[in-house]
Amino acid sequence: MNKKIAVIKGDGIGPEIVTEAMKILDKTAEKFNHTFEYEQLLMGGCSIDANGVPLTDETIERAKAADAVLMGSIGGNTATSPWYKLPSDKRPEAGLLKLRKSLNLFANLRPAVLYSQLKDACPLKEEIADRGFDMMIMRELTGGLYFGARKTEEVNGVVTATDTLTYNENEIRRIAVRAFDIAMKRRKKVTSVDKANVLDSSRLWRKIVEEVAADYPEVSYEHMLVDNCAMQLVKDPAQFDVVLTENMFGDILSDEASMITGSIGMLASASLNDTRFGLYEPSGGSAPDIAGQNKANPIATILSAAMLLRYSFDMDKEADAVEKAVEKALKDGYRTGDIMSDGMKKVSCSEMGDIIAANI
Ligand code: NAD
Repeated sequence: MNKKIAVIKGDGIGPEIVTEAMKILDKTAEKFNHTFEYEQLLMGGCSIDANGVPLTDETIERAKAADAVLMGSIGGNTATSPWYKLPSDKRPEAGLLKLRKSLNLFANLRPAVLYSQLKDACPLKEEIADRGFDMMIMRELTGGLYFGARKTEEVNGVVTATDTLTYNENEIRRIAVRAFDIAMKRRKKVTSVDKANVLDSSRLWRKIVEEVAADYPEVSYEHMLVDNCAMQLVKDPAQFDVVLTENMFGDILSDEASMITGSIGMLASASLNDTRFGLYEPSGGSAPDIAGQNKANPIATILSAAMLLRYSFDMDKEADAVEKAVEKALKDGYRTGDIMSDGMKKVSCSEMGDIIAANI
């Protein structure tokens, strides 16, 4: 297959970690007989330096013309970088928000996997960590409380703030379909998380999820209240496969799920629209403290590239090969500084990329 990938290396460690992910994509293409063509685009601080704005309209159009976008991370040291003296709509992060919106990326996927080799980093009790976990948090990204009408006003002499949480049936259906499709590629279980004992929007959420579930007889599903889900994530994370939820609940639960893996350099993510197009990036930031030192962990970006292969290109075998290559590197004892422990072999960012590429 011939595919075009827009590459946004970004700032800080972005160029280092994306270079390693491209190394892995090239090796995968060679092994499985594909051609990946890259177009490098600027966004974030590097675009401010080159173009005066964090994202140009031309960059948006070029990203849209690709089959998928692979991104590193953007931004600098928020205390010292001159980018943060600019008005907020001119700062690096404004570029990312604008890009997500322009590409209509409504589904955010964040896998939380505890690798047996890294279970010491898990902050949960040993007997829970020993069971491991492998879940996909699927968060609605463009609706709900963060996008509803809001106002602060004086009501009868009392300052009062209001936010509104709105979902329509179409917004719920399109993400539920995505969640069930993804469950079909995994262990075929969906946990839909809501607050249906209180919220109307959650009761509609439940109704639509049930309608969608009827089209997927092979997938088992359950509803779970968000407060219970927050507890279950630390009590028995192994029970979850795909966790489907709305924007604010997903914001909180995905961070909780990330935290219990214990290692930020390992966390991939994807944001999808209603075609096969997606934006793939590590969950961490641009780590200005270690930028340019060849120390960063490239695995989150490499696993994001594996998601790109699976979800945008439908290349399951290829994605499996990348994920297995990462696991082998860990099993063989190779670690970047952030996940280093006694008795392991410490490697640089580029060495980790070389080792994983050799495993494919
Ligand atoms: P950060 O995630 O960049 O760093 C937090 C800590 O984790 C640092 O000690 C860093 O060294 C470490 N770390 C992160 N990724 C790592 C990796 N791959 N390998 C090894 N260690 C890693 O968060 P921060 O310091 O709060 O933010 C720095 C900049 O990143 C800010 O400008 C922030 O706005 C930006 N940011 C960007 C994104 C994005 O591009 N999507 C996301 C989060 C933060």
